[in-house]
Amino acid sequence: MFIVVKKKSIILVFCVVTLILALTGTGIALTKTGAFALQKKYAVVIDAGHGGADGGVTGKNGTKESDLNLIVARLLEKKLSDGGFRTIMTRKDENGLYGDSLDKFKARDFAERKRIIQESAPDAVISIHANKFPQSPSRRGAQVFFNPASEEGKKLANSLQDRLNRLNEKYVGKTFMPLKGEYFMLNCTEKPSVIVECGFLSNEEDEKLLQTPEYREELAEAIALGLSDYYK
Ligand SMILES: [Zn+2]
Repeated sequence: MFIVVKKKSIILVFCVVTLILALTGTGIALTKTGAFALQKKYAVVIDAGHGGADGGVTGKNGTKESDLNLIVARLLEKKLSDGGFRTIMTRKDENGLYGDSLDKFKARDFAERKRIIQESAPDAVISIHANKFPQSPSRRGAQVFFNPASEEGKKLANSLQDRLNRLNEKYVGKTFMPLKGEYFMLNCTEKPSVIVECGFLSNEEDEKLLQTPEYREELAEAIALGLSDYYK
């Protein structure tokens, strides 16, 4: 009799515990894990090129590359965070990353960008820049660069270029292939890294476009979609 009661009690306790877990603890834990997994799925470093004493290239109408890069990087950051990516910005304001002294500032700025990338161990790096090619002022359009030693970098560059080519088609009337490049920012991690040159500040039409909030928005959208395509 005692044994039977004990067995019944055990079964009852087991049922109650299971029910409580099912209704509360486990259910919440699963939901939390699901949401967490989605948000933390991919980490992306967004690197706004130049900053501080290094303004990058300047357009005929005064567009400063470092300012433009930061605006596009911020728009991209917003879109990627909204889309569930974990984002890390190398540069969050107009300043460079070299500290107070200007001594060898460019090298220290690069070193700091690399440190941020290595510390945050991202799944991808997207560096935002703008181009200038005064030898050929007719050169236009958004162009992606990748490290030729990285197969995944090339794939990511293709994804981004595909989306950016929709804009190139619309505004420039032609499309471009992503290009190989031996750049510092493409060598900070083994993970796929690309440089997006948003357009040519040596071209007046490109500069005009890059000055409009609408086009900057379209650029950021294209880059974000290209990154999402890469992970599909
Ligand atoms: Zn640049």
